[in-house]
Amino acid sequence: MRSALVCGAGGFIGAHLVKRLKKEGFWVRGVDLKFPPFSETQADDFLQGDLREMGVCQRAVDRRFDEVWQLAADMGGAGYIFTGENDAEVMHNSAQINLNVLEACRQRFIKRIFYSSSACVYPEYNQLEPDSPNLEESTVYPAAPDSEYGWEKLFSERMYLAYRRNHGMEVRVARYHNVFGPEGAWNDGKEKAPAAICRKVAEAPDGGEIEIWGDGLQTRSFLFIDECLEGSTRLMRSDWTGPVNIGSDEMVSINQLAEFTMQIAGKRLSINNIPGPLGVRGRNSDNRLIAEKLAWSPSQPVSKGLEKTYAWIEAQVNAGRPA
Ligand code: NAD
Repeated sequence: MRSALVCGAGGFIGAHLVKRLKKEGFWVRGVDLKFPPFSETQADDFLQGDLREMGVCQRAVDRRFDEVWQLAADMGGAGYIFTGENDAEVMHNSAQINLNVLEACRQRFIKRIFYSSSACVYPEYNQLEPDSPNLEESTVYPAAPDSEYGWEKLFSERMYLAYRRNHGMEVRVARYHNVFGPEGAWNDGKEKAPAAICRKVAEAPDGGEIEIWGDGLQTRSFLFIDECLEGSTRLMRSDWTGPVNIGSDEMVSINQLAEFTMQIAGKRLSINNIPGPLGVRGRNSDNRLIAEKLAWSPSQPVSKGLEKTYAWIEAQVNAGRPA
């Protein structure tokens, strides 16, 4: 039986990945500070522990795994990453996790490890215009990420690639672009734009108003969780390292995202653009490399994933559930 270790299995992508690996017939161990908050983990074994501690990493990697997925990170949406208030924590915690997990894997001769980097590694100078951002993989240098979160991701990417070079590990590096879906953070301060907008629309009375940070003309692309897992497993099981973008290339403005959500909800709301933490002006996934190497691109428009996400968040709002 194939086996997998998922670090960050209590998180949004990790919990969905565990479900997928179980469907594929893997024996799965999850590890995280916390259990998944919205549904019971499907992992065969779940180690609740702090991956900043080397001893926890060594306990997690105490056997051979066919696949190790390193998704654990101190992260959140713009309200967490771009205010500057959490910079030291974010850099320290995530770097420590990566240093430890990777070294624990080397010690146990783990061959194949996946690292989830981020679109936040790309230089701010290529994302100043909403209509023409450049996020081709090779443009990451000269480095100038717009957040400390992005700098940590870039450092860790390099560390994974160095372990590949020096220790013969099969490393896979994906740069995720705004992944969203049901069972993700939606009201705890770590939610990202799609979840925050779904919540605001679900909470607003018809004819009311929602607040959007900035002028709403900033552009992004959003990848539904199922698509993310398809791209990730293809990369993991390919013979190619990356780094590669895993994202959607359907670029939308934040105001448009709000419009889509209102259509799904069947509500007419006005948008009140207010000051808030923003990040770069324009961002979109460049999918040419992954199409060439793995013959992959997202199969559905963002609105399809938004329908499922809205339905889940609306149910949370209606149930009056806390974060
Ligand atoms: P998430 O915050 O839901 O999951 C991360 C998990 O890591 C959390 O459950 C958290 O408890 C766990 N964790 C944090 N510190 C830990 C520690 N010290 N020990 C053990 N566990 C710890 O985030 P996610 O959206 O599932 O993202 C997964 C990965 O993908 C992260 O590395 C993230 O940076 C990356 N990524 C995500 C997106 C996205 O849009 N979701 C975009 C780019 C990159």
